[in-house]
Amino acid sequence: MKSAQGPHDTRRPPAPAARPATRPASVRAPARTPPRRRTGRLRLTRRASVALAAVLVVVVAAAATPALLGVFGASAAGATPTAGSRTTSAPTLPPTDAVTATPSPRPPTPDLPPQVTVMPHGYLAFAADAMYPPAYSVDASTLATRAAQADKPLAGITVILDPGHGGTDGGTVYPMTGDATIVEKTVALNVALRAKTLLEGLGAQVVTTRSDDSWVALYHRVAQVAQYVLGRHADFLATTGSRAWPDAAETMRLSSLVQICLDKNSDYLNGPGIGPFKGYGVTPDVRQIFDIERQHSDIVFVSLHCNSNASAQAQGVSVLYTSNNMIYHEERSTSGTPIYRFYDDAGRTRLAQDLFDAIVAKEPGLSNNGWMAPIFDQDLAVLREENLVGVLVEMGFVTNDRDRKVLLSDDGVDRIAQGVAAGLVQYFKGG
Ligand SMILES: [Zn+2]
Repeated sequence: MKSAQGPHDTRRPPAPAARPATRPASVRAPARTPPRRRTGRLRLTRRASVALAAVLVVVVAAAATPALLGVFGASAAGATPTAGSRTTSAPTLPPTDAVTATPSPRPPTPDLPPQVTVMPHGYLAFAADAMYPPAYSVDASTLATRAAQADKPLAGITVILDPGHGGTDGGTVYPMTGDATIVEKTVALNVALRAKTLLEGLGAQVVTTRSDDSWVALYHRVAQVAQYVLGRHADFLATTGSRAWPDAAETMRLSSLVQICLDKNSDYLNGPGIGPFKGYGVTPDVRQIFDIERQHSDIVFVSLHCNSNASAQAQGVSVLYTSNNMIYHEERSTSGTPIYRFYDDAGRTRLAQDLFDAIVAKEPGLSNNGWMAPIFDQDLAVLREENLVGVLVEMGFVTNDRDRKVLLSDDGVDRIAQGVAAGLVQYFKGG
């Protein structure tokens, strides 16, 4: 983040017409892209889908589909793939007592286009009744009971840690000229790796969007999230024999679209690197991905960044979330592509508050002096283009002497990571 106006690297412009021409294309979401044509190979009829699903369920169950699951990048050992990496490890499902297999009837006409509602200001939104019955559900009370225990309070939970920037994108630095004494990408990775160790000690499964100093596109990050969740979902469908829609074949078709992002690792405007995502609004395919992601409330997303400001007085941690209202506000000047509006606002704001409280409790040296709100709502690509409960943590200002001292110290990094872990435990405790 480079200014008080928000993280420059994770927010797309408010509207196409207002997009500053000087912003680098690599950090912007495309405003409008031509409709993507699906290939005939991927465009399955319902009958073909049903037939393929039957085959795939068997295949998935027997072999955990290494070719597909390889890109989901998680294993029981907590493998952390970096950009473009592949692993043959299959993801591990959370303990079954945290999961309820709900037999959901297949909707009568799954191939029909989802219903779209015309909202005030003329923008289009997917209607609530266009959503398919959830197949996967999490028993929050079971997780809360576990989180209240001292031993492995995060067992059954998956945390996706997203260290901001990387590689050629250092993020914000200090000082702005001359040799930098602090680089955002390094702090973000240090905290993520420390938090990973702590979280795994608490029983969580941890996935990171990068585990070294490599550049990862914003859409590569949300694609990693989507692939991971789709893999878990396909595994769940195969394990339980659920016939809910989207079924295994449809889940794999969605995965193949997302794979484009991973293969390209690019954020260029109108480039193929955004895969099925739109930047403004969502396609029916992405709506289905989001609908699947929202079912997996035992997976949370935490993006880690540092702040900066022209004033050295700005100090302290802030935690950002992205709400339905914010996206509506940002997108109401556009039309033509329906927006998604079923993000978990309550979950996101609660996670933001829990993380803020816990980080400041563990590291009072990052207390917020009011220059920036402790938690606030902003349209962020890494939270808009996915539908997990997720937040973005601005861990402190590299431009502030006090914050910088914490961010550069091993003890400071450790205490921030402890705060992240404690905040996540509190979040799953609830209340
Ligand atoms: Zn940043």
